[in-house]
Amino acid sequence: MKTPHNWYNLSQAATLESLKTQDTGLSSDEANQRLATYGPNLLPAPHRKSALARFAQQFHNLLIYILLLAGVITAILEHWIDSGVIIAVVLINAIIGYIQEGKAEKALEAITHMLSLEANVIRNGKQLSIPAENVVPGDIVTLQSGDKVPADLRLLRTRDLRIDEAILTGESLPADKSEDTCESDVPLGDRHCMAFSGTLVTYGTATGVVVETAANTEIGQISEMLSDVRILETPLLRRIGEFARWLTMAILIITSMTFIFGISVQNFSMTDMFIAAVGLAVAAIPEGLPAIITITLAIGVQAMAKRKAIIRRLPAVETLGSVTTICSDKTGTLTCNEMTVKSISTSDNQYDVSGVGYAPHGKVTEANNQVELSDAPVLNQLTQAALLCNDAVVHSTTGIWQVNGDPTEGALVTLAIKAGLQHDQQAAQHPRLDAIPFESEHRFMATLHHDHQGRHFMFLKGAPERLLEMCDLQRTVGGDTPIDKTYWESQMHNMAVQGQRVLAIACKEMPNSLELTFSDTEKDLVLLGIVGMIDPPRTEAIDAVKACHSAGINVKMITGDHATTASAIGKALGIGDGQTVLTGNEIDSMTNEQLKACIDDIDIYARTSPQHKLRLVEILQSKGHIVSMTGDGVNDAPALKRADVGVAMGMKGTSVAKETSEMVLVDDNFASIVNAVEEGRTVYDNIKKAIIFILPTNGGEALTIIAAIALGRLLPITPVQILWVNMITAVTLALALAFEPAERGVMQRPPRDPSEPLLTGFLIWRVIFVSLILVSGTFGLFILERDAGASIEYARTVAVNMLVVFEIYYLFNSRFIYEHSLRIETFTGNRFAIYAVLILICFQVLFTYAPPLQVLFSTAPLTIASWGNILVTGVSVFVLVEIEKFFFRNRQLRNNKHNIKT
Ligand code: ATP
Repeated sequence: MKTPHNWYNLSQAATLESLKTQDTGLSSDEANQRLATYGPNLLPAPHRKSALARFAQQFHNLLIYILLLAGVITAILEHWIDSGVIIAVVLINAIIGYIQEGKAEKALEAITHMLSLEANVIRNGKQLSIPAENVVPGDIVTLQSGDKVPADLRLLRTRDLRIDEAILTGESLPADKSEDTCESDVPLGDRHCMAFSGTLVTYGTATGVVVETAANTEIGQISEMLSDVRILETPLLRRIGEFARWLTMAILIITSMTFIFGISVQNFSMTDMFIAAVGLAVAAIPEGLPAIITITLAIGVQAMAKRKAIIRRLPAVETLGSVTTICSDKTGTLTCNEMTVKSISTSDNQYDVSGVGYAPHGKVTEANNQVELSDAPVLNQLTQAALLCNDAVVHSTTGIWQVNGDPTEGALVTLAIKAGLQHDQQAAQHPRLDAIPFESEHRFMATLHHDHQGRHFMFLKGAPERLLEMCDLQRTVGGDTPIDKTYWESQMHNMAVQGQRVLAIACKEMPNSLELTFSDTEKDLVLLGIVGMIDPPRTEAIDAVKACHSAGINVKMITGDHATTASAIGKALGIGDGQTVLTGNEIDSMTNEQLKACIDDIDIYARTSPQHKLRLVEILQSKGHIVSMTGDGVNDAPALKRADVGVAMGMKGTSVAKETSEMVLVDDNFASIVNAVEEGRTVYDNIKKAIIFILPTNGGEALTIIAAIALGRLLPITPVQILWVNMITAVTLALALAFEPAERGVMQRPPRDPSEPLLTGFLIWRVIFVSLILVSGTFGLFILERDAGASIEYARTVAVNMLVVFEIYYLFNSRFIYEHSLRIETFTGNRFAIYAVLILICFQVLFTYAPPLQVLFSTAPLTIASWGNILVTGVSVFVLVEIEKFFFRNRQLRNNKHNIKT
């Protein structure tokens, strides 16, 4: 099979023959053997940059260039220790960046693998779902709309099949496919009898035989397509990059001005001023910030994955924090997707059904008396149709009954068994010839059967309004009579007000055809009855909706279900007022302006189809909302793409929906979206915390040097000491902030305005405020020590330790941006903060007392009295920042009250 076949020129029979397989698929043993021979169906790992190239990348940063320049200048001035330490710091910084980035990338990669692809194959004559990597040449694969093709296939049977092959051909319109052999050598885009690995089925169904797997597939041969490496770049990181460039320019200008000032006004020597300028540049550069932000994002993504939300595109982490509206599907997301039929109406009778879940334990009763199908011919036909116009299977594993397939259909299977029918027997007596599968667009499913007396008939089930339009007659015990729409509408209403999902079931005698077309469903249908099934709301969704409301997030339910059912379920969940509902038809009849005027007041949208979702997202966005939209089908893709955060369902979602979304919910649960929003807000907070923690250190150091030059004094901290402080605090204290848990009120405040700049006025103020405290304390103690006759080494050691102790105190302020830190959790809430402080203390002891470090950094051992001064002075930053927070909190409260009044 390794010789390149023109599979598309081969007839079906020749293809099957050449692959030694048949229509009923391979046996499991044969498949296992082939798996061992051909290997797993995985594409070769994308080409990654070499370790050396990734390490070199760490130096490609303007700030690092300045540091390297500083290293060269100090070397020219023969300040060997200075230049050695600068180079060492740059290297250590690169190593840390390399390791952290590698870890972040691995974490993200591991998360992508959680989204493994499944393939539907036929083996031993039975349909089963297996991991796509276990597919082997010769396997028979079935495809339906929404699937990603798992390997290269020669198509055997198709039904209206259309495939999006853009990743291979660049063609944006889906290609029509058929099973007919291509007669000549045609280009890839025209090989209509083939389906290629990695392409997406947008419509129809098909069966095909696997001809190539893994690297032998068309996609496997285009290696550059495979470099689907995650880029650790988000709008926020870009903005930080811009900020870094801006900061570099500012540093260069200030440094040059200080240099000129020092030489011309203070008459410092050229060499001294060079060293001071290097110190200033080094002081002002926040070397650790980019790595801390990347790590914070990666930790956030991991935290979300733990809470069942998988981020597919990194920028979504940030966007999630500013989501103002979540539009959610109902079935399975807000509800449990565990359907149980509770009521049945035929034209003569109303029945109740007992039992819970999919377990076929329960009875069909009429006025509390059990009903036998032999006494109720219409009910008999209805349950038969419900069982046969159905693709679901219910089965029990270790006593728990589960459904394979669509839960709505599973509920009907359970109903039929409760009523006394047996699936295998019914299927044998009425073999299925053809089917029109259910799609949200047409809202019904139809199947064509025959019996062994030569009669053909169609069963149809679907949304009742749809079926009422299609049926002219209704079945009664005495025969078929004209349909009484008023009766059925009132029956439907009675079920829907109880939150039941209503389905109508119909049948039709057919001529002896083997195929079903849409025109067959248009007339002469006889309504058998309607069934109502419950699907309880998820309890965690009720709490999540509450959480959204207190977080200023609007929740909208967009469902294909009936308006009355939707509003009853909405009421149970706390969405909408239990009355106001807009239906798909009403949306169609409204202009954009009309819809815009009412969209904020309506939370439930019923009987919608996927196109409505797109329109709703667009209108919401035009009103300034940041929208998260859920979806599962192929037709949801445009809305998912358009939404700010498209959310696909991990369990029932199609590959197409997953590929177009930013986030995938492992458990399809609405509560997981809300958890992800909470994590998104926390990540943004933590990035802010890292910024307001790191920048004042740089500000304080830079100001200390500028002050020394302005006052014509010796530098209180040397460039190498500054580098020590920057590096040691970044890898301990600042990193601890990346692990900060969510603040208590994180879901009690309104969403963040996405246009809000990274450095808000408040953040800039905080940086300046703390920088000033740091410079006063550090410079102050330095002068005190010098005036008291201490050596320059001693006074500088005091200054460095003062700066570090300030940072330790300030870390505990920074754990909460606005909230006060005078509480026990300040010291217990994040154990990493405590570890970081302990490690930092050890480093400072070494820095002060270890002889090799004393030589490297020109430090001197300190007395207890100096330590006492340092520790007491350090408290000032904690107290002053807390007073500042108190002032801002009060001001904000006053503003809020004012806003509420006006
Ligand atoms: P949501 O968009 O919240 O998931 P939904 O699952 O209720 O909503 P659809 O799946 O589009 O929406 O279903 C719409 C209607 O189609 C249902 O109310 C039901 O009447 C009918 N329906 C659903 N599933 C089937 C099915 N398998 N066969 C026939 N009719 C169905």
